Amino acid sequence: MYDLIVIGGGPAGSSAAISAARSGARVLLFERGRFPRQKVCGEFVSAESLGLLEKLLDAEQRPLLGDAIRIARTRVFLDDRVLQAPVQPAAASIARLDLDHALWSAAQSSGAETRQQVTVQGVGGSGPFTVNTSAGDFETRAVVNASGRWSNLNPAPRSNGHPRWIGVKGHFKEDFPPPSVDLYFFDGGYCGVQPVDLKAESGCGRVNACAMVRADVASTLPEVFSHQPALLERSQQWELLSDPVSTAPLVFRQPQPEHHGILMVGDAACVVDPFVGDGISLGLRSGALAAECLVPFFRSEAGLGEASKQYDEQYSRRFGSVFQTSSKIRRMLRLPGVVRRPVVALLAKAPAVTEYLVKNTR
Ligand SMILES: Cc1cc2nc3c(=O)[nH]c(=O)nc-3n(C[C@H](O)[C@H](O)[C@H](O)COP(=O)(O)OP(=O)(O)OC[C@H]3O[C@@H](n4cnc5c(N)ncnc54)[C@H](O)[C@@H]3O)c2cc1C
Repeated sequence: MYDLIVIGGGPAGSSAAISAARSGARVLLFERGRFPRQKVCGEFVSAESLGLLEKLLDAEQRPLLGDAIRIARTRVFLDDRVLQAPVQPAAASIARLDLDHALWSAAQSSGAETRQQVTVQGVGGSGPFTVNTSAGDFETRAVVNASGRWSNLNPAPRSNGHPRWIGVKGHFKEDFPPPSVDLYFFDGGYCGVQPVDLKAESGCGRVNACAMVRADVASTLPEVFSHQPALLERSQQWELLSDPVSTAPLVFRQPQPEHHGILMVGDAACVVDPFVGDGISLGLRSGALAAECLVPFFRSEAGLGEASKQYDEQYSRRFGSVFQTSSKIRRMLRLPGVVRRPVVALLAKAPAVTEYLVKNTR
C-alpha cells in the first residue's frame, strides 16, 4: 500500500512526488513517456516558481536554473504596434527537454519510486484506491492526477463546433537574440519567441518559437510565420535546430482541483492560456500544494476528505486570479479587429495598463 500514487511525470507530477516523498510518504510516480523528451511549450518559467524550482531540484541540477537565460522584457507585436512591458522579476528560459528530465531525476533521489513507460489506465475506489496500469494494479491511500491537459484519464472536452486550436514548437538558430519574450499575434493565433539554451550546448544562439494557432489558419511553423510580417522577417535568418513538435487540441475549461477524492494538479486541474507563460509555474506550485495538504492525511492526523477540501480552498485562493485575468485577456485578443484595434492603441499609449495586465497574470 503506497501513501500516494502520482499519475504523470511533468512539472506538476514531479513536484507533487518530490514534495510528498520528502515529507516521508511512500510515493509511486508513473509516466507513460520516457525522459528526456521534447514538449510543445514556450519554455518561459515565470519568476513566481523559481524559488520552489530551486528547492525541488537536486544540488547537481541547480545550475540548470542558475545558468538559465533571464527574460526581463516582453514585447507584444499586435496590429502593427509593439507593446512593451518589463517582466519583473525576470523569468527564466529553460528547455523542457532539460527541465522535465531534471525534475524526474529529483523525484528519483527524493525517495519516490518512479516508473517510466507505464500508462495508468484507470483508478478504482474512493480511498483507498486501486490504480490499474499497463504494468499491473497498485494500491494506494491517495492519488494525485498530474496527467496534463488531456489524456486517457481526462479526455479533452468536445469542441462543440468551435474552431480547433493546435500548438507547434521548434528551436532555431538566431545570432544574438534579445533577452525578451516576443509575442507575435495575428488573426487566428500567436507565436512566442525567446532565447533558450540546452544543457548540452549553451550560448549557441538558439531561440524557441512556439505557436498556438487555429488549425484552419496554420499547421506548421513556416505557415505560422507567414501570417505575421515582423515574425516573417525575423524568421528569414533562422536555421532549424530541432524537429518541430505539435499537440492538439488545445482546450480551456473551468478549474477542477478535486475529482472523486483525487487531487488534480497542473494542467489536469486547469489549463491557463499559454501566452501568460504560467503553466509550468502553476504546475510546480499546485503539485507542491497538493502534497502539502496531504501531509496531515499521510500522518493520520486528518481524513482524505479534509485534505482534499483544504487543497480545493487553497487552490482557488492562490491561483483563481490568474485564470480570471488570462481568460479576460484571451477574450480581448480574440475580439474582431475593428473592436480590438482601438483597445490595443489605448494600451500602446498607456504602458502602465499593459504592465498591470502582465502583473495580474502572475
Ligand atoms: C503552445 C503552448 C505553449 C506553452 N508555453 C508555456 C510557457 O512558455 N510557459 C509555461 O509556463 N507554460 C507554457 N505552456 C503550458 C505548459 O506546457 C503546461 O502548463 C505544463 O506542461 C503543465 O505541466 P503538467 O505537469 O501539468 O502537464 P504535462 O507537462 O503535460 O505532463 C503530464 C505528463 O503526464 C503523462 N501522462 C498522461 N497520461 C498519463 C497516464 N495515463 N499514465 C501515465 N502518465 C501519463 C504525460 O506523458 C506527461 O508527461 C504552454 C503550452 C502550450 C500548449
